[in-house]
Amino acid sequence: MLFQRRKFTVIPGDGIGPEVIAVALKVVDATGVDIEPEIHQAGASIFAKGIDSGVPKDTIESIERTKVVLKGPLATPIGYGNKSANVTLRTLFETYGNLRPVRELPGVHTPFSGRKLDIVIVRENVEDLYTGIEYMQTPGVAESLKLISRMGCEKIVELAFEFATAACRKRVHCATKSNILKLTEGMLQHTFEEMAPRYPKIESKHILIDNCAHQLAMRPEQFDVIVTTNMNGDILSDLTSGLTGGLGFAPSANIGNDVAIFEAVHGSAPDIAGKNIANPTAIILSAAMMLRHIGEGKAAEDIEQAVLVTLESGVRSGDMTGSAKPTSTTGFADAIIANLGKASSSTKKRDFRPVRLPPSSDRVSSVRVGRRSVTGIDVFIESSDSPSELAESLTDAAADTSFALHVVTNRGSTVFPASDRTSSLVDHYRCRFMAKNRTVGVTNPEILRLLTRIGESHVWMHVEKLQLFDGEDAFSRTTK
Ligand code: NAP
Repeated sequence: MLFQRRKFTVIPGDGIGPEVIAVALKVVDATGVDIEPEIHQAGASIFAKGIDSGVPKDTIESIERTKVVLKGPLATPIGYGNKSANVTLRTLFETYGNLRPVRELPGVHTPFSGRKLDIVIVRENVEDLYTGIEYMQTPGVAESLKLISRMGCEKIVELAFEFATAACRKRVHCATKSNILKLTEGMLQHTFEEMAPRYPKIESKHILIDNCAHQLAMRPEQFDVIVTTNMNGDILSDLTSGLTGGLGFAPSANIGNDVAIFEAVHGSAPDIAGKNIANPTAIILSAAMMLRHIGEGKAAEDIEQAVLVTLESGVRSGDMTGSAKPTSTTGFADAIIANLGKASSSTKKRDFRPVRLPPSSDRVSSVRVGRRSVTGIDVFIESSDSPSELAESLTDAAADTSFALHVVTNRGSTVFPASDRTSSLVDHYRCRFMAKNRTVGVTNPEILRLLTRIGESHVWMHVEKLQLFDGEDAFSRTTK
């Protein structure tokens, strides 16, 4: 039987993508590792052919075969119509965990130089606001659904602790906004606190996301691994890239159930594309992460050390502050290749063990509770009536139903029963109806009857059931 070389899919991408990917492939090849790239396209050129997902069939088939991708940045068209090719890839292959490591690099001067920063953000990558489920509830009010699942929280927390264990890290912080978003962000905090005791050798701590941002600016050296939800992670990881020298130096890995995609954090940087001046470090370090992922730990370590030696030797890319004579993209990569096999004098090698990834399952995951009932509904209504006029008419509409109007809010503030505060109102009200008999709850036909009554005099757009799980409120309270 013929020996088949291990293959990996390469997507050159847009803007500076093809230039930085070309030199990263040269560096990978120079390590002597026995793998072969399969080059496929995605992004702007594919949108231009009218393929709305931005990712053609041959690229998807290649990824299904190789399971490992080195990807250049993909430009996202601005405006309506085409969706992001990055989001297509992320959701197609369910790359649920985004690892973004940053560390202090020799010669890359920042206000934090000398503090030995070495931080990894582990960002949940598929849920949260990034599912992109949005609606215009009225012509003037938009809605976005923030969906967080227990299964998604378990997977990202497990990935964070398993990565921390494999990379010999000491501490994992979980950063959320659970003080305000008790059910969504709170779910990650609770899952983290439940799972952390399984990793007794690793210190674990919850931190509110706003304090985390403040602490990252004041005392970033206290952080080791930070696990967080999608949107928080998107913002925090750009912040941490900034702490250590900027986007040109920030690699990343998107870890999925059976596919992993490695890419620089930066985008296509169209302003510097085609000039051979882009910094290739981020994609070269991403290639090193890819090699470690497929078990080529020595080649990965060799590349990382060669990057450090290159920077120690005074080679500078154009984006490094104070680089009077910057080296070109190709020159930078050639210097790294010349330094393969040398050891850094400033940064020690780190021990890595293979990361044990959370198991994937085809089963539909569900969390069971003993008792459940519906105790009321929130109805979202478009109306230019004043709060008191609206409340009077809704009280009438509910009169011979199983519900009573409980509270009305506008832009989050209670406007019925009347409040002393004056709010700037819009024509979008959330109207909470509670079951008259809360111990029995309400049924679907009773809900439909109330909606029919409301619909006779008002425009409603959206309904949420107020459920009780084992007697506990499964919804946020209003401040009545
Ligand atoms: P960007 O492409 O990251 O570029 C922002 C700026 O950062 C550039 O103008 C350049 O600044 C600097 N920069 C980025 N990478 C660099 C490198 N390797 N070497 C030197 N300088 C570098 O962000 P953007 O302008 O917001 O986004 C452009 C496009 O990329 C958009 O279509 C966006 O959707 C897409 N994007 C894709 C990904 C991805 O595929 N993962 C990620 C982010 C953005 P100077 O002006 O100082 O030269």
